[in-house]
Amino acid sequence: MANGIPSNLDAVRERIARAAAAHGRAPESVTLIAVSKTKPAAAIAEAHRAGQLDFGENYAQEAAAKIEALAGLPLRWHFIGRIQSNKTALIARHFDWVHTVDRLKIARRLAGHRADGPPLNVLVQVNIDDDPAKGGVAPDAAGNLVDAMHGLAGLRLRGLMAVLERAGDAESSYRRVRALFDGLADQGGNDWNVLSMGMSGDLEAAVAAGATQVRVGTAIFGSR
Ligand SMILES: *Cc1c(COP(=O)(O)O)cnc(C)c1O
Repeated sequence: MANGIPSNLDAVRERIARAAAAHGRAPESVTLIAVSKTKPAAAIAEAHRAGQLDFGENYAQEAAAKIEALAGLPLRWHFIGRIQSNKTALIARHFDWVHTVDRLKIARRLAGHRADGPPLNVLVQVNIDDDPAKGGVAPDAAGNLVDAMHGLAGLRLRGLMAVLERAGDAESSYRRVRALFDGLADQGGNDWNVLSMGMSGDLEAAVAAGATQVRVGTAIFGSR
């Protein structure tokens, strides 16, 4: 990480391009989300100067302060943390995307806070490894949640998101997320085209399985 944010970003973009090419995909079919949790606004501004536009944050209050400090930059903000119901207003006000919807109650609250303005892009988080330490809806309950979220004005349902168990076989888990995503395409509707999966250590396996967004923190900003 001694090389700094711009060259780390280049290296990650290169990894994405290579993984995409290996599977006959265009590099632009994968959006890089730079995960900036715990990192200062100055680090985000530096990444932006190196061409980065999409950023991911996990903690609503910490993120809101940085988003306000950087309001002059044309950045896209992705909420990727656990959602507490008393933070849904803050999240709906500051973010363009929410990746971690796993309960109808949270979806309804986000929708209610987004009645005006552009719809909030949302992904349903699935707990693909049934890991009790992780958020996300059980795979066999994802369809019901997707159906229930239809018709919530203020939300634009885009696809699925997954975080893997650390010890697991990433490629096989990501392929199961992809199969679930494909299986829900009819229910998902016209905007169902986003699969958010893959992090610093396993983005190649995620791109191989069809990820359209990868969320990378450590490989860009260094350890936390
Ligand atoms: C922190 C985090 C990431 C980034 O993880 P790295 O291993 O640092 O790349 C991605 N997704 C989620 C949900 C995270 O919380």
